[in-house]
Amino acid sequence: MSSTNNSINNNIITSKTDAMPSDKTAVNVVWLKRDLRLTDHEPLNHSVENGLTLLVYIFEPLLINDPHYDLRHWRFVLQSLQDINDQLIECNSQIYIHLGDAIDCFNHIQHSFDITGLFSHQETGLLSTFERDIAVQAWCKTQNIHWQESKSGSVTRGKRNRIDWDKDWRLIMKSALYQPVLSRKTFIDHQQLACLPQSVLPDAWYEVDQHMLTGGERWAQKILHSFLKDRGKNYHFNISKPESSRKSCSRLSPYLAWGNISLRQLYQAILIKRSETGWKRPIDGLASRLHWHCHFIQKFESEHEMQWRPVNRAYIGFSYPETHCGLSVETRLNKWKTAQTGYPLVDASMLCLIKTGYLNFRMRAMLVSFLCHHLLVDWRLGVTHLAALFLDFEPGIHYPQFQMQSGVTGTNIIRVYNPVKQSLDKDKDGIFIKKWLPQLSELPKEMVHTPWLLTPMEEQLYQFKLDETYPLPMVDIDETGKIARDLLWGFQKRTDSKNEGVRIVAKHVRKKKAIKKSKNTNTIL
Ligand SMILES: Cc1cc2nc3c(=O)[nH]c(=O)nc-3n(C[C@H](O)[C@H](O)[C@H](O)COP(=O)(O)OP(=O)(O)OC[C@H]3O[C@@H](n4cnc5c(N)ncnc54)[C@H](O)[C@@H]3O)c2cc1C
Repeated sequence: MSSTNNSINNNIITSKTDAMPSDKTAVNVVWLKRDLRLTDHEPLNHSVENGLTLLVYIFEPLLINDPHYDLRHWRFVLQSLQDINDQLIECNSQIYIHLGDAIDCFNHIQHSFDITGLFSHQETGLLSTFERDIAVQAWCKTQNIHWQESKSGSVTRGKRNRIDWDKDWRLIMKSALYQPVLSRKTFIDHQQLACLPQSVLPDAWYEVDQHMLTGGERWAQKILHSFLKDRGKNYHFNISKPESSRKSCSRLSPYLAWGNISLRQLYQAILIKRSETGWKRPIDGLASRLHWHCHFIQKFESEHEMQWRPVNRAYIGFSYPETHCGLSVETRLNKWKTAQTGYPLVDASMLCLIKTGYLNFRMRAMLVSFLCHHLLVDWRLGVTHLAALFLDFEPGIHYPQFQMQSGVTGTNIIRVYNPVKQSLDKDKDGIFIKKWLPQLSELPKEMVHTPWLLTPMEEQLYQFKLDETYPLPMVDIDETGKIARDLLWGFQKRTDSKNEGVRIVAKHVRKKKAIKKSKNTNTIL
C-alpha cells in the first residue's frame, strides 16, 4: 500500500562497501508475503542470481490478530509453504518460518548471517502492513541492507492517474516469466538453518478443512488444468449462478490472492486455449476479469484511505439510521452475519461462505447490497466480516468492490439487488438454497424462494412451521428497496458527490472509459 505523497521507495539499493568484513555467511533474504510460489518470481530470481538465498515467511501478529483474517487463511498459507518445502527437498533446503514481528525475524537472521540483500514483492495491503514496511525500510537503512521490491502484477506504486495503464498491463502480462534456476547451491541448507530460533505454530493451522480449497503452487496448477480441460467451457453461462459457478468459474482466486500462481502465468496459460473451438468466449470473459484484478488493486494502491472512508468523500456525510424498520443496527447486522434474514438466497449464501470460504461474484454483491441497501447498515460494519470469510481475501479488490456494491462511489450504477428475483433467476430449482438450508429441502422448488407465502395447509403438508422452521423475512424488501434507491439516487445527484465523481474518474478510470463516463455518469466503471 502506498499513499501518493508518502510512498515507500521502490528500489532502494544502498552501498555495502563501507561495511566491516564479517565471517558470517552472506545471504540474500527473499521475504515471501502474498507470493507463495517458486515460479514466475522476480524477487527470487534476482536473489538467486546474486548469491546464496534464504527464503523467509513471517506469520505476523499484526495480521494474525487482525479481524480481516481467520484461521482459514493461515491454514491456506501453511499449506502453501509446505508445498514449497516439498519442492525444496531436492535443493536440501526449506523456508525459514517465523512467528513474530518482521523486524525481530530479520534481527535473528542478521545475528547468524550477513544479510546482503532483502528481496520481496510490493504489497498492496492494509494500513498495518504499509506501516510495517516503513519500519522495515528504516531497519534496513540502519543495517545498510539493500531492499529491492518488485512490482506485483501490473500494480504501480505512486501512480496518480491511468495514463498508459492498460498498455503496461498488456506488456507485463505478455512478457517472459521469471523462472529462477534452483539447485542445491541456491539456498542456505538445513544444517545452516538450524542456528535460527524455531517457531511453534498453533496445531489448528495444520488441520485440514475438507470444505476449503487446499493451498499450494501445485494445487493452483491442478485447478487451472481442470478449468482448461473442461470445467471452464460454460464459464460465461454459469458465472452468476451460485451453484454452477462453483464448477464453471476458475476458482483460482485464493491461489491468486496468496500468490500460488502469478496473474501472468494464468493469463499466458489461458490465451493458449483461446483458439480452440468453443473457448473464445469463456477465455475472453476470464481475461477481462484478470484485467479487473489489477485495476481494482491499483485503485486501492492509489487511494488506500478507502480502507476507512468512502472513495467518494461526499459520502462521508451519508448517514445510516440507527433504527430501520424497527430494528437496531446491531440486530440488523447480526441477523445478516448469522444467516437469519429470512431471505433464503441471502442466508444460503452466507452459510455457504462460512463453510467453504467461496461465493461467486453475484452473490457477494447481493450480500453487500442486502446489508447496505435493504438493511441500511454502514458498509464499514460489514466489510471486515466478509474479508475474514473469503479465503481469497485480497484487500485491493475487496475494499473497492465492497464500496462499489454498497453504492458509495457516486460514479457507478446503483444496484439494489432483489434477493427473490436473484433466487428465481439464478437458482431456479432451489438446488443451492436447499443445500445450505436443509430445513427448506422438503418444499417444492417453486416455494423455496418465498417460504413466507406458504398457506396453513401447505405448512401442514410440508411439515413446515413458519418462523420456526425458518425465520420470517426481517424486512419487506419492496419497502426497503425503495427507501434505499431514493436515498442513494438523491445523494448521487448532489453537487459535492458529482464533483468527487469527476476527481475519481480522473484518478482511477482508464482514458477510453473516462470519455464514455463523462457523457453518461451511470456507466459502470
Ligand atoms: C463485495 C465483493 C468483495 C470481493 N472481494 C474479493 C476478494 O477479497 N478477493 C478476490 O479475489 N475477489 C474478490 N471479489 C471479486 C470476485 O467476486 C472474485 O474474484 C471471484 O468471485 C473469485 O472467483 P473465481 O476465482 O472463480 O473467479 P473467476 O471469474 O474465475 O475470475 C478469475 C480471477 O479474476 C479476478 N476477478 C474476477 N472477478 C473480479 C472482480 N469482479 N473484480 C476484481 N477481480 C476479479 C479474481 O482474481 C479471480 O480469481 C469481490 C467481489 C465483491 C462483490
